[in-house]
Amino acid sequence: MAEAVLYETHTHTTLCKHATGTIEEYAERAVARGMKGLTVTCHNPLPDEKSLSVRMREDEFDVYLGMVEQVQRGFEGRLDVLLGMEFDYAPEFEGYLGEQVKAAGFDYCLGSIHPQTDYYCEWYHKGDAFEDQKTYFDMIAKVAECGMFDCVSHPDLIKIFTREDWDLERVWPWIEEMLDRVEATGVAMELNTSGEIKVYPEFNPSERILGEMQRREIPVVIGSDAHAAVRVGDRWEKALRTLAGVGYTEINYYKQRERVSVGIDEGLKSLVEC
Ligand SMILES: [Zn+2]
Ligand SMILES: [Zn+2]
Repeated sequence: MAEAVLYETHTHTTLCKHATGTIEEYAERAVARGMKGLTVTCHNPLPDEKSLSVRMREDEFDVYLGMVEQVQRGFEGRLDVLLGMEFDYAPEFEGYLGEQVKAAGFDYCLGSIHPQTDYYCEWYHKGDAFEDQKTYFDMIAKVAECGMFDCVSHPDLIKIFTREDWDLERVWPWIEEMLDRVEATGVAMELNTSGEIKVYPEFNPSERILGEMQRREIPVVIGSDAHAAVRVGDRWEKALRTLAGVGYTEINYYKQRERVSVGIDEGLKSLVEC
C-alpha cells in the first residue's frame, strides 16, 4: 500500500445545521480513502447572528474547538485531524474576523463568499446578474487581499446562483483581474469537488480557471466541502487528474497555517477506492 499523503481540507459538522454525521465518521472515511489527514472547517459564527440558520452560534465556537480536539485525540496515530474554519468574508466583518482568526490555534483558515446568504443578497445583489457576478469576483479578490486567510474557497460559486445568466466568456475579464489580484497576495485557491453534484455540475472553479491559476503559479488546495461523511475524498481522482491536465504537479494543504505541498502522482497512488 502506498504511503498516505493527502489531507481532506474542507469538511463540516452538525453545528452548521446543514451537515450530517459525526466528525469521527468523516475521519473514518478519510482513513478508508487512504488519506493522511482531515481538516475540519465548519462555518464560522458571524456578528449579529447573521445567517445563523447555516452556521454555529457565537457561543458554540468553544464547543466546536472541543469537538475537534476530542477527535484529534481519538485518531492519534491513525489520522492527522486538523483544526480549521470556513470564514464568511465581507468587508463589513473585517474587524470581527480579525479577532476570530486569532481566537484559536487554527491550522487552516479558509475564506469564503457565499453569495446566497441573507446579508450578502441584501448588501451586494443589485438584481442584474452580470453586475452581481462582477461584484462577486471583486469580493473573491478581497478575501485574498484582506490577509487573514490561507485559501479562497470555491472561487466561482456565483455561477450556481446566476446559472441562467452564466457566460464564462462574458465574465472572463473580471476573472482574470481577480486572478491577478489573488496571485499578488500569495494566498491559495481551492478546487472544490462538490460543484459536480450541484445544479451547475462542474468543479468550483472550472477547468479553464484552474488553467489560469496554474499559469500564475497560484497554489491549489483540493477540498470536498463534505457535509456528509460519504463525501470525504469524493472525486479526488478526477480532481487530481484535472489539475495534472492543466499543468499542476503539486497540490497543497495547510498545517499550523503553513503550506505543505504534495506531489499529484504520489497523491493519486495513495488513494484507496471505497
Ligand atoms: Zn455548508
Ligand atoms: Zn464549506
